[in-house]
Amino acid sequence: MNKADVVVVGGSAAGLTAAITARRHYPDKTVLVVRKESQVPIPCGIPYIFGTLGTPQKNLIGDAVLENNGIELLIAEATDIDREGKVLHTTAGDVGYERLIVATGSRAAMPPIPGFDLDGVYAILKDVEYLGGLQQRLETAKDVVVIGGGFIGIEFADEINKAGDKTITVVEILPHCLALAYDEEFCVEMEKVVASRGINIRTSSKVKEIAGDGKVEKVVLADGDEIKADIVILGIGAVANVDLAKKAGLRIGLTGSIAADRTMQTSDSSIYTCGDCAEKISFFGGGPSPLKLASIATLEARIAGANLFGIRRENVGTVGAWSTAVGDHALATAGLTEEMARKRGYDVVAVTIKGPNRHPGVMPGAAMNQTKLVFERNSGVILGGQVMGDSAAGEVINVISACVQNRMTAEQIAMFQIGTHPALTSSPIAYPIVNAAEMAIKQMRECGG
Ligand SMILES: Cc1cc2nc3c(=O)[nH]c(=O)nc-3n(C[C@H](O)[C@H](O)[C@H](O)COP(=O)(O)OP(=O)(O)OC[C@H]3O[C@@H](n4cnc5c(N)ncnc54)[C@H](O)[C@@H]3O)c2cc1C
Repeated sequence: MNKADVVVVGGSAAGLTAAITARRHYPDKTVLVVRKESQVPIPCGIPYIFGTLGTPQKNLIGDAVLENNGIELLIAEATDIDREGKVLHTTAGDVGYERLIVATGSRAAMPPIPGFDLDGVYAILKDVEYLGGLQQRLETAKDVVVIGGGFIGIEFADEINKAGDKTITVVEILPHCLALAYDEEFCVEMEKVVASRGINIRTSSKVKEIAGDGKVEKVVLADGDEIKADIVILGIGAVANVDLAKKAGLRIGLTGSIAADRTMQTSDSSIYTCGDCAEKISFFGGGPSPLKLASIATLEARIAGANLFGIRRENVGTVGAWSTAVGDHALATAGLTEEMARKRGYDVVAVTIKGPNRHPGVMPGAAMNQTKLVFERNSGVILGGQVMGDSAAGEVINVISACVQNRMTAEQIAMFQIGTHPALTSSPIAYPIVNAAEMAIKQMRECGG
């Protein structure tokens, strides 16, 4: 029987990172990755296959990283776990383990919409061949409907739109696209950007049916409107792959994912979990979090991999930092929006700063950026932030996320020792994060009398 000290099931963001971390922390242990597919797509790059990249083959996680780190690979499906005997059953035979990491990820959620199984309806599967098939179908498609106006739906719509010969419509059930992660003013601005690129947006619209004779022909909305479609793409979220864990009797959490403690240990002390299949707790209050992101998956993998033979790290909970981009416009978020914070009962001070990302604002590459920070009034602790503007938003939000994770106060942020440059950043006189913190402090003082 094949045997390794550490066996990881799953070869994507979480599994790969967990395996590498295990090697780094326990160099004497043998590590084996078991994954079912021969080629692994970079999940976050999938929308870009249909425009910027042009083919699924340019969007792969290479295997060199396994080789370079001395990690073995078995391409097979894990079918069951014999927890007592510490044996993983796979379609290519049994594998013994000392520690097992379950990183089986997630799959596309399928909506209970009549007609979702018609020819021409595509879920977003992390499968190279399937994505290649979708790409081929798109070449001749004229009318494309994307159901779901979250960041994945928007990215798909914008990338497919780059072909320039299709009518594309995004249908979103909520009043705004991206509404689960951004305050309304940011959603409205991003919708304007999307619409300006020729993409139709239908918000507050529920899909009643996907209709056609064997093959999709139209999408019927609850208000009776019909949208012509040769291809429908379902971008409505993901559900955790827990079949293996369930079969093995591991505890499943409130969100239907694999339950884990703060060390990423499951209900079996020899089995860890990480990534989309693992239950998440929120950084804010510790309740369950529905977020599924590659950045969270890899963080959890760095925790699981480090803790296998002795506890070295703990999960503080999911802050939730991520970004998206449409053309030159980036939108990024970390932590709680103002609306989320108010709904949770926080007394909030929120400040928005608008200004150029260069100084003077006529420098080449200058663009207007909008930065919003949300603080808890009593303590002055930052709860979250949102940034809209140029591509730097993707990194600025990571700074904000670090502030949130470290529970920094507005006063500490106002005291940041920042670096600025005319060709690279906003002015030191009006640096957005610092300025927002100063404005928040002013509001907190005024309120305190
Ligand atoms: C289109 C799209 C865009 C995204 N963009 C972003 C983004 O910009 N930023 C971001 O942070 N997140 C993004 N995400 C989310 C991100 O992709 C996921 O959070 C991430 O893929 C989770 O990684 P994972 O390793 O946990 O799971 P997965 O990527 O789902 O990988 C699971 C792995 O386990 C394997 N596996 C499952 N079951 C078995 C079994 N029984 N036996 C063997 N192998 C098995 C699978 O084959 C796969 O290799 C995006 C997701 C999608 C779909």
